[in-house]
Amino acid sequence: MLYPLPAPVKTAAEALSGGGIQAYLVGGCVRDIIRGASPHDFDIAVPSPPDVTAACFPGRTLILDGVKHGTVAVMISGEKIEITTFRSEGGYSDGRHPDAVSFTKDIISDLARRDFTVNAMAIPLAGGYADTEKTADPFGGRDDISRRLIRCVGDPYARFSEDGLRVMRALRFSSVLGYDIEEKTADAAVRCACMLGSVSRERIADELYKTAAGDHAESVIDRFSGIIETAAGAKAQRTEPLRYAPPDPLTRLILLFGSEAPNVLRRLKRSRADIGTAMRVTEAMDLPSRGREAVYRLLIRLGSGDIKRLFDIKLALGEISADERASALETADELIRSAVPLSEGDLALRGSDLAKMGYSGTQIGETKKRLFEAVVSGEARNTRDDLLKLVRKSP
Ligand code: ATP
Ligand code: MG
Repeated sequence: MLYPLPAPVKTAAEALSGGGIQAYLVGGCVRDIIRGASPHDFDIAVPSPPDVTAACFPGRTLILDGVKHGTVAVMISGEKIEITTFRSEGGYSDGRHPDAVSFTKDIISDLARRDFTVNAMAIPLAGGYADTEKTADPFGGRDDISRRLIRCVGDPYARFSEDGLRVMRALRFSSVLGYDIEEKTADAAVRCACMLGSVSRERIADELYKTAAGDHAESVIDRFSGIIETAAGAKAQRTEPLRYAPPDPLTRLILLFGSEAPNVLRRLKRSRADIGTAMRVTEAMDLPSRGREAVYRLLIRLGSGDIKRLFDIKLALGEISADERASALETADELIRSAVPLSEGDLALRGSDLAKMGYSGTQIGETKKRLFEAVVSGEARNTRDDLLKLVRKSP
């Protein structure tokens, strides 16, 4: 099959070809083309060293911060196209960085350093196409795609020992693609889970999120719970409900780790926003959730994104029905549309109004709190008149 290249990739391939360089597509895009899915990015590999590669793009913006690793990035029509010199890798003594990376002119050596057979194929580029008939596939990637298998290139135990992150990547691809992990690869992954100790937590977290978001997350996480627990540093509380949760990784990780979720995310150095979400959602799990006022109070605590996560989790746990979830989220939407106050700052009466009426110091804060509570409980509407009535009644 001749796979037509997107315009910027085609332009890059033509420039390289003009410089006498045979370029290949490599990595995930090859896997996706062969399995009939659309690639989300296109990685190009070449036998030329970076300076020769760069010389094919006179007048174009080049990003050269990856040159040490052989990567020249070229800006074409606003897109960043990465072109990397074939590399072969020496040993790994620290379980994460190869001791020596050397450039090579041999595509097979470049493919040999890659993690899984399905990721270790290359398609030569010619005339604006990637010709899949000419795919370099020294490790049986095509067969493994048709058998739906994740299998290490070479000896699985050695490959996972070199780089512990591959253990998580095996789970990620299995979860996202719905491929089984081949038996020896799976055994070695379980035995090498401890190698995750020498991998950066940020990278573990990236793979854990992608694993959690996969269509097959529930079965992968259930089968490899030991690896997941090593990666997360906490015990998984439940896996079965994952299948009923939407593919949002944060929702699924909160479901998986329950009240431990904030600690897991902290350990994995996730953003404050994610940790905050996990804290707010887990703390809100046991609060009342039925009826307008309860939903309003949850909306105040959680905001519109996290309240959806809360109800998605409650549904997945079977605490509420799909109808109850839908009606609660409908109520939340309606509250947002009607611009109800979500904090004291949204009240129709301001601190300065209260000050003019003679309130001072802590009285102002306490009064605003009281007014806000009156609005939330339905005792007053958020209008100046209603709120003035309340403050006049009892200063
Ligand atoms: P995605 O669709 O998520 O981009 P991908 O397969 O392209 O998947 P990347 O992380 O972008 O994954 O890596 C690109 C390629 O580099 C992989 O397909 C694989 O060939 C190789 N690779 C990436 N990480 C490793 C690793 N830790 N060990 C060996 N090879 C790796
Ligand atoms: Mg990729």
